[in-house]
Amino acid sequence: MENKELTLLEVPEPAQIRDWATENGILILAHSYQDGFLQEAAHFVGDSLELARHAAQANATAICFCGVHFMAETAKLLCPDATVFVPDMEAGCSLADSCKAEDLARYQQHLTEKLGKRPTTVAYVNCSAAVKAQCDIICTSGNARAVVESIPATEPILFVPDKHLGGWLNETLGREMILWNGACEVHELFSVETLLALQNANPGSITMTHPECPKPVRDASDFVLGTAGMLRLVKSSEAKTFIVGTEANMIYRFEKEAPQNTYLAAPGASCACNLCPYMQLNTAEKLWASLHARGPEVDVDEELREPARRALERMLAVL
Ligand code: SF4
Repeated sequence: MENKELTLLEVPEPAQIRDWATENGILILAHSYQDGFLQEAAHFVGDSLELARHAAQANATAICFCGVHFMAETAKLLCPDATVFVPDMEAGCSLADSCKAEDLARYQQHLTEKLGKRPTTVAYVNCSAAVKAQCDIICTSGNARAVVESIPATEPILFVPDKHLGGWLNETLGREMILWNGACEVHELFSVETLLALQNANPGSITMTHPECPKPVRDASDFVLGTAGMLRLVKSSEAKTFIVGTEANMIYRFEKEAPQNTYLAAPGASCACNLCPYMQLNTAEKLWASLHARGPEVDVDEELREPARRALERMLAVL
């Protein structure tokens, strides 16, 4: 590190930020959908499952979470004694917002009356702590198949909040889970027409799309994978060109960890960037300011902590 005093007014280089955080006892976690600067500043970068595991195992007393609000809540649930804070409190998630706890409670009640028994509720991790507290088990895109397979085939299952991920699980596992009608606004905008055009222009390329994408886009892909699965594929495949159907910042991580390949972002129907507007709210300046302020802090209501944490721990026990 340069022998220069770091001030709040001037944002230092990512490595300097990380070192400063280390010296001040703060662990920086960043989701792979954050921009390259934030990924470089973080002590650990990962998908939701990797970050949840890392948070659960870290003995941190302060965590700065570069991601969206539900991810920071998850870290708080798994590290209840740590102060968890975020660069921007407004960084939410359209998918999490599509499932409100009170609406879910009403629907669970309706299904219980209709089915004569309460369905097992599986929640994709992209939901609020209040929703997690009403669910039996959580999953991420990386372990969703294993989580659903851990539930007996005879059990009725309600899957929330992502209808596309749930639909993909139903297709690939032969289940008939009842699906909540939610979707991610970033993955829902991928266009199958522009994807096919990109494939035609790049013969020999491999198309990987995220299970949050709609079925026509998934069906036009060679692989449907969570981000950790995509990372394993680009490191091990003999292909040289990959079309990437997920949030475009993921390409930063691919280029860093498998730089031998070429990566092309699958285009959206109306916008070519495929960047999550919520993740983009976190910036270098806000990260640097939040580290000094140790805030804004994310907390979870006392009564939600135990049930939400139980649902998360059931997931961590499966995989
Ligand atoms: S990419 Fe989609 S699911 Fe992920 S945080 Fe953004 S809106 Fe939510």
